[in-house]
Amino acid sequence: MIEFEFLSAKNIEEAINYMHNYKLSKLLAGGTDLLVDIHKESPRLGEFSYVIDISNIEELRFIKEYEDIVEIGPLTTHTMLIESPIINKYFPLLAIAAKTIGSPQIRNRGTIGGNISNASPAADLVPPLMVLNAELELKSMDDKRFVPIEEFIVGPYKTSKKDDELITSIRIPKLDESYKGNFQKIGRRQALNIARLNLALIAKIDEANKKIEDIRIVPGSATPYPLRFKNLEREIEGKTWNQLDLDYLSQKIGEEMISITGERWSTPYKKPALGGILKKAMNELLNF
Ligand SMILES: Cc1cc2nc3c(=O)[nH]c(=O)nc-3n(C[C@H](O)[C@H](O)[C@H](O)COP(=O)(O)OP(=O)(O)OC[C@H]3O[C@@H](n4cnc5c(N)ncnc54)[C@H](O)[C@@H]3O)c2cc1C
Repeated sequence: MIEFEFLSAKNIEEAINYMHNYKLSKLLAGGTDLLVDIHKESPRLGEFSYVIDISNIEELRFIKEYEDIVEIGPLTTHTMLIESPIINKYFPLLAIAAKTIGSPQIRNRGTIGGNISNASPAADLVPPLMVLNAELELKSMDDKRFVPIEEFIVGPYKTSKKDDELITSIRIPKLDESYKGNFQKIGRRQALNIARLNLALIAKIDEANKKIEDIRIVPGSATPYPLRFKNLEREIEGKTWNQLDLDYLSQKIGEEMISITGERWSTPYKKPALGGILKKAMNELLNF
């Protein structure tokens, strides 16, 4: 059994102080990833002697709208995202992705900050946050910095977060009304379903000319960690709807995956399945 000391922080300042003074520590938000890992004695945990509970820090649980951005506190639960009028108005993609997570109990406990920090290749909020160009505010005793989520996640279960840094907010730039998004997920079953594959995309749609501009596509569970498929984006960008060949694009997404991962045992399943969810996402996006 893993032994550790348990510290409970009342506010951001206290959490940062604890992280500064107790170097070998883990943060506990909703605990739906961390407690499972502790129970399983997962080697991913590495060495630690302290668990710092941040779950009662109410100043980290918020969704706020500003002129150009929406700011989300890291302790915002999946249920809060699903129910938020602000998220449903500006980023329905994020609410749709949150709805697919776990079960009601997991969605009531699990947080956006935990989903990002755990950096699982199958994390359902990470692809939507990447296509939305989200950026994270990280605070430590001596520093505050902003990091785009694309630079925060650097490997499977690996982030560029320093040991003494706390995510204090997630900021998403608002999009104009011509942007539309889509999220797809497939797994082994309907409920409590960890993604075998997921896919988030957004695109600026010129309805008058039936043209796609600024498309961003991020599959999850397809590569060791989620990232933008820029070759595929270039194939679509600037095309009118009738120039799009969805069969060709569904081949291309598989080829881009393989160019990153190489051929793996899962490739015979993932290549056509990824092509399939791209087609579905594009069909829904353009109301074909
Ligand atoms: C049964 C079950 C089903 C699940 N289904 C899904 C699913 O369908 N899709 C999915 O994506 N996930 C799923 N998960 C995983 C999990 O629920 C989510 O990733 C959740 O969002 C994690 O949030 P948490 O608050 O519980 O994180 P915790 O377990 O508390 O923390 C996870 C990691 O994040 C770090 N952390 C947390 N908050 C911060 C912060 N503010 N700053 C810095 N580091 C921080 C912690 O130190 C820890 O390393 C499932 C888990 C279970 C047990």
